Amino acid sequence: MGDKPQLYPCIRCGRMPDENDKYCIDCGVPVHNRCSDEPGILKKGCSFVNPPTAAYCAKCGEPTVYQLHGLIQPLYPGGNRPAFLNFK
Ligand SMILES: [Zn+2]
Ligand SMILES: [Zn+2]
Repeated sequence: MGDKPQLYPCIRCGRMPDENDKYCIDCGVPVHNRCSDEPGILKKGCSFVNPPTAAYCAKCGEPTVYQLHGLIQPLYPGGNRPAFLNFK
């Protein structure tokens, strides 16, 4: 395989992470802007790694972890969720 996600400078402090880092060692931000749709017992999840500027997953449309951490503001809060999913 060897198909590693591309590394970007930390979105908060600009530090360049090492290849195997999961979190920024200076400020604790996740290195990869993954999809927030984590694999669970009943679902496969997505976990797609998006570019650091992505507020929503390019693959499934769920918010990315950077958006959930408040690191980036989506231009369109609520994203592509159909209205009937917003009732809670
Ligand atoms: Zn950082
Ligand atoms: Zn996704």
